[in-house]
Amino acid sequence: MDVDGTRSVVPPIYPSTTYARAYDHSLPNLGGRDLCYARPDNPSVRAAEETLCDLEGGADCALFSSGMAALHAALEGSMRACVQSTARDDVFVAAPTCAYFAVRFRILEWCASRNIEVVSYDPDLPFSVYGLDPSTEEVREESEAKARRSGYAGKSLRTVLREQRDVGRRAMMVWIESPANPGWDHVDIQSAVDAARRCDAFCVCVDATVTTPIIMNPLALGADLVMHSATKYLNGHGDVVAGALVTRVEDETWRCVTHERKLGGATLGAFDAYLLSRGMRTLELRVKRQSTTAIWLANAMKEFIDKVREDTGVEAGVVLYPGLVPGFAKQCKEHDVDDECTPDGSTKRTYHGGMMSLCFYDFLGSKTDEKKVRVERLVTFCRMFATSCTIWTCATSLGGFESLIEHRYSVEEPGSMDPFIPFGLLRLSVGLEDRRELLKDLKSAFWRALDHMRKQEGVNVDSLRSLDK
Ligand code: PLP
Repeated sequence: MDVDGTRSVVPPIYPSTTYARAYDHSLPNLGGRDLCYARPDNPSVRAAEETLCDLEGGADCALFSSGMAALHAALEGSMRACVQSTARDDVFVAAPTCAYFAVRFRILEWCASRNIEVVSYDPDLPFSVYGLDPSTEEVREESEAKARRSGYAGKSLRTVLREQRDVGRRAMMVWIESPANPGWDHVDIQSAVDAARRCDAFCVCVDATVTTPIIMNPLALGADLVMHSATKYLNGHGDVVAGALVTRVEDETWRCVTHERKLGGATLGAFDAYLLSRGMRTLELRVKRQSTTAIWLANAMKEFIDKVREDTGVEAGVVLYPGLVPGFAKQCKEHDVDDECTPDGSTKRTYHGGMMSLCFYDFLGSKTDEKKVRVERLVTFCRMFATSCTIWTCATSLGGFESLIEHRYSVEEPGSMDPFIPFGLLRLSVGLEDRRELLKDLKSAFWRALDHMRKQEGVNVDSLRSLDK
């Protein structure tokens, strides 16, 4: 866009908060939109919105000051539009039991303050919770009971929607996060949308932060809205907090969403929008590279954990990665393979993203110890593992150029003896570094954490130490 006639290759930043009117009182017009005041109208923000709108194949896009602000606008927008045709007492929100914890918490809070019921559903394959530790029946029963206590619904989205429709209620919003933080459980979006349509759901919104438009386009699968924490992959450089909504059609819901942003005021600043545009220029390259590294690492770590089991009989844990789960790939976009072809001769391939988790079981010391002791031991091991890494940084966030690792229980529910999040889960956001170095760092951190447990915590790890490092 050569707005100022300089033919600058990189679009300029527009920090101005207002725009001068002409003698006839008319406003300047950019791309069919009048520029009056920067809260709703800013060319730098608009440029980033147009890029994302194209990437998602949507009708329009709105950027927000954070992903949480985008969530808020989606809820407000769909509620205002929905209650124009449906009595407020007859609506509910369908929310996943497994999602980025702050999103789930915010949906519960937002609905409670408006007297709207939240009906929870489970993802299609909730293996991150149910599959906690297959080695002992006791732990399995405990994890299932925990899942139920923590609100695991025991019901799929289809069941929830059908049951509610049969009692005359309509989903004002169906929220989907797939694959979902931090166990990467997934929902088949196309069939979820079909079920939502059959049950007359008002709005289906997909949080596509983790997949990005490079891996999946939820609007093409039938969703009404797609949401991003643009703080993550879209920006990709760890220096902007931003959120986005993209709509399939410019309908009444969208009008209410943009109205919410205009009057709620959660807009993005021009400088952040500029950085976001810069980030999106390399999105495809980054996501492809991170996905390729992630599946390689997931397989290598699985092999490592399998070897520990084979050599010592110890069930140390499990690797959670969407690319290792049947069914996920079928929703992903197919990309042409640029260079030659894949080992199996195909010229197409799918990518599964750069997020994975290592979920360690209660594998240290004696299982007869008191639960509190076992939990503390596992938590200490995981924290030690994460902070012992030298290439991976132990920090909160994801989707940047740098690899991050984090013990999620310490962030989400520290101190709880009955958390929703497994005690031993490390979330990994794969960056752009050399994959062999990343793997070496993970393995070294495992041994360093184990050594710490032996020397500082007095845990007997003899059977594991016999392994060749
Ligand atoms: N959705 C997902 C999947 C996230 O991971 C996050 C943040 O971590 C959010 C939404 C919230 O976004 P933000 O931190 O930009 O407000």
